[in-house]
Amino acid sequence: MYADVILPLPLSGLFTYSVSAEMQDKIRRGMRVTVPFGRRKYYTAVVAKVHRQPPGNFTIKEIHSLIDPAPVVTERQLELWEWISFYYLSSQGDVCKAALPSPMMPADMERGYIQKSEEQFRLNPALDDADISATIQRAPKQQILLDEIMWFLTEHEKDSLSRKEVKELNGYSPVALNGLIKKGILFPFTVEKSRLHRETTSNRTPYPLSEEQQKALDAIQHSFSDKQTVLLHGATSSGKTEIYIHLIDQLLKEGKQVLYLLPEIALTTQLTLRLQSVFGDKIGIYHSGIDDQERTEIWQKMLSETPYEIILGVRSSLFLPFRRLGLVIVDEEHETSYKQQDPSPRYHARDTAIMLAHISGAKTLLGSATPSIESYYNAQTGKYGLVTLDERFGKIEAPLIRLQNTKDLRRRKKMKSLLAPVLMEEINTALENGEQAILFRNRRGFAPMVECTACAWTPKCNHCDVTLTYHKKIHSLVCHYCNATYPLPAECPSCHEGELKTLGTGTERLEEEVSQLFPGAIVGRMDSDTTRAKDSFERIIHDFQENRIQVLVGTQMISKGLDFENVRVVGIIAADSMLNYPDFRSHERGFQLMLQAAGRAGRRDKQGMVIIQTADPEQPIYRFITRNDYVGFYQSQIAERKLFKYPPFTRLISIVLKHKDEHKVEYGATSFARLLKKSLGNKVLGPNKPVVSRIQQLHIREILLKIDHATSPTQVRELIKSTESRLRKNNDFKQILLYYNVDSI
Ligand code: ADP
Ligand code: ZN
Ligand code: ZN
Repeated sequence: MYADVILPLPLSGLFTYSVSAEMQDKIRRGMRVTVPFGRRKYYTAVVAKVHRQPPGNFTIKEIHSLIDPAPVVTERQLELWEWISFYYLSSQGDVCKAALPSPMMPADMERGYIQKSEEQFRLNPALDDADISATIQRAPKQQILLDEIMWFLTEHEKDSLSRKEVKELNGYSPVALNGLIKKGILFPFTVEKSRLHRETTSNRTPYPLSEEQQKALDAIQHSFSDKQTVLLHGATSSGKTEIYIHLIDQLLKEGKQVLYLLPEIALTTQLTLRLQSVFGDKIGIYHSGIDDQERTEIWQKMLSETPYEIILGVRSSLFLPFRRLGLVIVDEEHETSYKQQDPSPRYHARDTAIMLAHISGAKTLLGSATPSIESYYNAQTGKYGLVTLDERFGKIEAPLIRLQNTKDLRRRKKMKSLLAPVLMEEINTALENGEQAILFRNRRGFAPMVECTACAWTPKCNHCDVTLTYHKKIHSLVCHYCNATYPLPAECPSCHEGELKTLGTGTERLEEEVSQLFPGAIVGRMDSDTTRAKDSFERIIHDFQENRIQVLVGTQMISKGLDFENVRVVGIIAADSMLNYPDFRSHERGFQLMLQAAGRAGRRDKQGMVIIQTADPEQPIYRFITRNDYVGFYQSQIAERKLFKYPPFTRLISIVLKHKDEHKVEYGATSFARLLKKSLGNKVLGPNKPVVSRIQQLHIREILLKIDHATSPTQVRELIKSTESRLRKNNDFKQILLYYNVDSI
């Protein structure tokens, strides 16, 4: 008997091992095994197939041991892995690695161990100090470790400690620990340990729905009777979340499980509290902020007789084992962070969620105030159901959106600062009334560019083909692609004559200027520079909610699904910069960002105000934004997409090649494209040099495939893979870093 196993390594294909006689009636698909691989190495692997066909003419190794008495990866999960690996052109090993918490897959058996229960150590109570010192005389390392263990136990008021805790002590070495165990000073024992006993109790039932909400809920359920996926297009604050809560409540009553996906960890805090108030400890939270051990425990709980009924998490929670999944909710379905960029598998969590639901016989509900063009198209063409909820809950008025033409204002000398006079006034009024303002700028740092006044020299990164951004707080130039920092030169290194002048505005400069303009107000900033430290994101949000910050300046981070109660005005600075980058999705993104940012304005009893500063107010997109006209915007976009053969009319597969040597990567990309063109013709575009064509010393080329729906996805993928393996035989090609990005965004 043989078993094909998935190794958590970036290698394509499965690996075949023989199964020993005594393992034969125990081993099954989805169980973990340990196998020898490479030189003197052991890995944990997942069994994908058990069969009796002897493999080809190579010597076959035997499975070393079987870890699990029952599968830890379910049949449906394996099916999902296979689909991801096929569709996103990634190895099953990469999928396995992304799916399973790392403690479940220890690589080197000497170091790793399988943790079902946790090993603990306590001191032998029968020995007194004198016995001990007699026993470990002349073993100074053991003495040191023992002292540290005793110190640890006193310090933490415990009578035992875990292997992990022992390992973290300075004096730890395996030899010293074993010595103490052998001498009977330290007693090992195991406990079934769990940290999943957070005591949260529900304290309310779902709120009664408004008439509009009830209609939407009925429509969703009606739609589910013949559609597997439904899109809920509901304005910010229309009460979508409350509808989800009712839906979840019903599913739980039917004994089903619900997966609730969010695009970002940052959003989980607010929602966790809200869901816990209704569902208490039925909810498990799963994201990268949860440590590996706890992720492992959640996985095991999901396999147990009493799994979580609701999982709230980011994209990785798709990989948990669900036994009775009834519904997947994909909130803010338009968010690009649902797409994994790096590393492989580069999957889109929304689309994978739909596949997961399909495999599980469950439904998917997508929700957004600004749906992706693809999802709305699917809803328009009847592939998905569509339910619309226009009004904000409690009949709160939608914010008033106004444009300010900065070019014109500048010409008339009315722009005395970075803010248009109207925006200044609105902020002033807000502050006088004890209300708040949000200012949105899509660039971090102080100034996006530095230039010599005499010769126009601009500093660039040594490793990437990008200009550097000036960050004032650290008085340095920073590369936003590789994070390299450079001191700001005292004089122009090129002409030694001119002055270096900063150009443009980032959030840091905006914050500084706003503080000067409104000296009485506390100004806060939220961007990836101010939220790097643990919990800093939550702290800023909390301060803003508690009115300890009056004006919050930030990047797109602040536009995302957060609830604030007291915001009167939202200003969008340099709005055009969101639209002017060369990508067919730039207008879709700009529209979503601006309307999402607008959604933060005006809650409760007051109408909010949104002011968009643009140098080009005639662009059609602004008409759709000011009228809050999603459908009009969608129609304009879909016509363009059709004309230029972009998704949803085609599927994009991007082939990215990187190498230090520009000639090599150019040669590799050209050969790859030429071979593909033989079969795919003008569906192959490029190779192109991307806008930033060198990052961290690597030159980049990209080939783009635009695949129409008449072409078989399987054939395209087989063609790509066979072409790659053909080229890989060439030595020059071998060293090229190459990856695929399917449905790239
Ligand atoms: P969305 O998810 O569409 O942004 P929410 O569900 O967060 O909207 O609703 C906006 C606000 O209205 C929230 O503060 C929410 O608690 C409140 N709300 C929504 N529906 C109800 C309801 N049926 N009863 C009471 N409050 C509600
Ligand atoms: Zn110069
Ligand atoms: Zn760089």
